[in-house]
Amino acid sequence: ASAVLELRGVTKTYHVKQGLFGTARPLTAVNDVSLSLPRGEVLGLVGESGCGKSTLAKILLGLEAPTAGQVLVDGEEIGAQDRMTLARRIQPIFQDPYSSLNPRKSIFDIVSLPLRVHGIGDRAHWEKEVRSILDIVGLPARVMNTFPSQMSGGQRQRVAIARALIMKPEIVICDEPTSALDVSVQSQILNLLGDLRSEFGLTYLFISHDLAVVEHLATRVAVMYLGRIVEEAGVAGLFDEAAHPYTQALLKSVLTPEPGLGVPDTQLGMAYPNPIDPPSGCHFHPRCPMATELCKTTAPRPVETPGGRVECHLHDPESPMHNPKAA
Ligand code: SF4
Ligand code: MG
Repeated sequence: ASAVLELRGVTKTYHVKQGLFGTARPLTAVNDVSLSLPRGEVLGLVGESGCGKSTLAKILLGLEAPTAGQVLVDGEEIGAQDRMTLARRIQPIFQDPYSSLNPRKSIFDIVSLPLRVHGIGDRAHWEKEVRSILDIVGLPARVMNTFPSQMSGGQRQRVAIARALIMKPEIVICDEPTSALDVSVQSQILNLLGDLRSEFGLTYLFISHDLAVVEHLATRVAVMYLGRIVEEAGVAGLFDEAAHPYTQALLKSVLTPEPGLGVPDTQLGMAYPNPIDPPSGCHFHPRCPMATELCKTTAPRPVETPGGRVECHLHDPESPMHNPKAA
């Protein structure tokens, strides 16, 4: 299958000043990320807050330029595409439908904005398109003249989805699209996103800190830790036999009945490291129950697995720690 979206060695380094007179220090938010997404698939990108997943989303949307590496859409680098082409190909749906919709604009103005910004069609065309896309996302045409404050959270997220789809994009970057919603509404929105994908042949990058949400929609999953993809696999493989100790810990935390009560079997409860001072060797070693001295000094290299790829000494046949059964 040909990749509609491909990342090759994408790295993003910021220079962060600490304190008023501090010198700027490099912070690598995205560290040598390579991913390939076939058309019509849903890649779930999972990681804790601060792992770099939102920075990666901004790079894909052309809002940030990578420090190194390439992002290709249909084999063409996005840096080389004009904004119009990029907007037609990639559209975002963000986490918070409360803050991402302008409260002073009507639903018609909000949903038609991409068409108006790009000078596509006239008023009659906008009305026809807005009507049609509202119907597709399950909202009645009469909401056109209402305002976000008159809607529920789920309805607002439908508006945000309508606004993203009105440009008929190929790829949709969903950045935590349901985490601000009530649990009962979450599954409605996930089902809608799933239906839209099959109806329009969309390709999603689905960013979430919540593996349960990802399992619902994703076909493949990439797990991100301190800017690196530490494991990538098909969704079934990942849930049945996660290779990386971090993925295993995340899965256990999903199974913890009450989130926030900690993860008894792992050391994940320990604070997420500061990305400006990443731990030496394997970045996960301070929280890893399997860590050895080697992990503190030497970063694991990416190793192919039957379903994807993993970065952990336990899975590297050339490492003295090689013992995939222990992981
Ligand atoms: Fe844990 Fe070592 Fe594997 Fe890193 S390389 S995940 S510290 S066992
Ligand atoms: Mg984020």
